[in-house]
Amino acid sequence: MDEHKRRCLALMDIPVWIRRDRGAGATVAAAEDAAGPGAPARDPSSELAAMAEEVAGCTRCALHHGRTRAVFGVGDPRAQLMVVGEAPGADEDRQGKPFVGRAGRLLDAMLRAIGLERDGVYITNIVKCRPPSNRDPRPEEAAACQAFLRRQIELIAPRVILAVGRVAAQNLLETTASVGSLRGQRLSYEATESPIPVVVTYHPAYLLRTPVQKRRAWDDLRAARALLAE
Ligand code: SF4
Repeated sequence: MDEHKRRCLALMDIPVWIRRDRGAGATVAAAEDAAGPGAPARDPSSELAAMAEEVAGCTRCALHHGRTRAVFGVGDPRAQLMVVGEAPGADEDRQGKPFVGRAGRLLDAMLRAIGLERDGVYITNIVKCRPPSNRDPRPEEAAACQAFLRRQIELIAPRVILAVGRVAAQNLLETTASVGSLRGQRLSYEATESPIPVVVTYHPAYLLRTPVQKRRAWDDLRAARALLAE
C-alpha cells in the first residue's frame, strides 16, 4: 500500500492492516483492474450529455424554482462503480457538481481507499436540483426525477452501485428500511434489464458528524471492492 492510500485510510480513521500472505495492494489492484482495463467498449457520453442539457432546463418538479445549477452527475461514463447520493447541497448547487466540499473530500478519500479515483467512477444523486434548506427530497420530487437516474444507470451500466445515505438507499431499493438494516445485505437495483448489485453505506456528511461509524463504512467499501473484483 502506498503512502497516498495510507493517508486516505487515516482520513477515514481506519487503521492499516497488512496481510502476511500477500501485499495489501493485491486486492486494491484487483479492484483497479475490475474498474478499468477490462471494461467493455461502451460510450454513452453523447446521450449522457444530451440528458444533462435536458436536466439543466427541467421543470418536472418544484425543485427547479430554487436551483442555481442542476447537478446531473460527473465521472467516467463507462464506470464500473456508480455512487448515488441524495441531492445537491449548497456547494453542489453553486458548482453544478455532486459531492464537493468536506463531504465530497471524504467521499474521494473513501474511494481512494479502495483504489479508485473520483474520475474513475460515476457520481450522481437521486434528485438533480437542490431542495430548499437542504431538506430531504420529497417522494414526489424523487419520483419526478427517477427516469433521469434510471436512464443514467442504464447507459453507464455499472457493475456495482454504492448507495450513500438513507434517501439514496430507500429510493434505489424501493424500501423504507434504515441504512443500518440494509448495510451488509446482498441487494440489487431491479429497474434495469439485469439487476445491478447495490451496496448501502452511510453518507459522508453523516460520517463527518459521526466518525465512529467510519469503521462500518470501510466494511461497506470493502464489500463493494469485493463485488467489483468478482
Ligand atoms: Fe427536474 Fe429532477 Fe430538477 Fe425536479 S429535481 S426539476 S425532476 S431535474
